[in-house]
Amino acid sequence: MSWFRRLAASLAIVMAVASCTPTVNPATGIREATLLTPAAEARIGAQEHPRVLAQFGGAYDNPRVARYVTDLGNRLKNVSEMADQTFTFTVLDTPIPNAFALPGGFVYVTRGLLTLANDEAELAGVIAHEIGHITARHAAQRYDRAVAGQIGATLATILGGVLLGDAGAQLGQQAGGTAAMAWVQGFSREQEFEADLLGVRYLSRAGYDPMAMATFLESLQAQDRLQRLQAGRDPHQETFSMYASHPRTVDRVVRAAAAADGAGGRRDQGAYFAVIDGMRFGDDPREGFVRDGAFVHPELRFRWRVPAGFEINNRPEAVYGRDRSGMAMIFDGRRLPTGADLVREARTSLPGVTLAEGQPRRINGQDGAIAFGSVALDNRPGEAVVAVVRHGGDQLYRFVFLKPGGFNAAERQRLLATIDSFQVLSAAEAARFPGTRLRIVTVGAGDSVQSLANRMAIDGWREETFRVLNGLGPTDRLQPGQRVKLVVAG
Ligand SMILES: [Zn+2]
Repeated sequence: MSWFRRLAASLAIVMAVASCTPTVNPATGIREATLLTPAAEARIGAQEHPRVLAQFGGAYDNPRVARYVTDLGNRLKNVSEMADQTFTFTVLDTPIPNAFALPGGFVYVTRGLLTLANDEAELAGVIAHEIGHITARHAAQRYDRAVAGQIGATLATILGGVLLGDAGAQLGQQAGGTAAMAWVQGFSREQEFEADLLGVRYLSRAGYDPMAMATFLESLQAQDRLQRLQAGRDPHQETFSMYASHPRTVDRVVRAAAAADGAGGRRDQGAYFAVIDGMRFGDDPREGFVRDGAFVHPELRFRWRVPAGFEINNRPEAVYGRDRSGMAMIFDGRRLPTGADLVREARTSLPGVTLAEGQPRRINGQDGAIAFGSVALDNRPGEAVVAVVRHGGDQLYRFVFLKPGGFNAAERQRLLATIDSFQVLSAAEAARFPGTRLRIVTVGAGDSVQSLANRMAIDGWREETFRVLNGLGPTDRLQPGQRVKLVVAG
């Protein structure tokens, strides 16, 4: 609920400063009446920026990469209609490929997106597209539409329910979460096409090949398909990906690029590979990750089995999971003094509820407790199971399972198996999970897609991942001397 208040407060501030004066859209030159002035846009961006950082794992701690992205972003901004304004370019420390912009010149790309791009022109295409959303003032247009009639609906969608709804919103991964982002997300196809046209304009002016926007979009779609295959889902159904939040087709992007008549500009793979060589790939071992069907945290030294059929979203504050039947889980941890009553902890750790039943439970040699009871989820009756387990002297971890209606016998079995799989790792066991990095290598005379893919330090899907990372189709072959990305331990 505190989150709701924060959102309502920021809306109130914006409404107070908004006026209905017509402004000239800097990118299109069209005079339009918007409620949101450029000054208000700048204020929203500055206000939301720290929240975006908090929600997306902070800025990626790699000065070389940060400087490179800022320089590239500024070169593109300097050929846009907002050349005289200050922009802030940030690389977010998350493995999921994504890019977005806030009003006021804030542009974000994730490190997952950097590991997917194959040359400087592809990254430039992504940044130019996001700059296009800002210069065309798409957030202001969306804001006006929201104010004009749908703001109630928008708020309801964003907020969802109290408990499960919140977990559901978190599970929406990169979707939503802050007021400004709710306006930015879900641009119309027209706005996406306009951002592509503007992106192509900036790319051409900066000397890059505008077709890079199309090749990167293909990589993004290939990555999205692979992820759905890995999760055992229908590869043709879109999810919470960047691809879904920026509705575009390769076809339209190619048309936008062709219209610019600027094909054949720079791609600059050498410069780009020099920057991304050694970058963290996938989850950071300091944050924990899913490996072989288990959630592993080498630094905090524990592991537990992911319930069958669950999709997992590892966030800085907690690990969230859910399955298709509507069962949701939250896993988190906190410090607790030695000697605290664990049964009491399990029964009372959900806000505003005391669960009816609780009992001590030994979990793989650790002290713990489990509690059961009914709770209201989205104002409907539901059931909660909460388990806590002590690790070391004063660290307490918690599993929360929720289901509207209640759990059936098989589901109860499944969640208990996960709780009882919690296991403390020794230093030696933890050292077996070092995390992974990108390494740029040159293809030798005897190398093939298969031989190089077999060197990748990942669980399964090696060839598919190698092809997606290197922008290769299912039948493309390698040439000696070509440079490619590998995923290596480290
Ligand atoms: Zn877009």
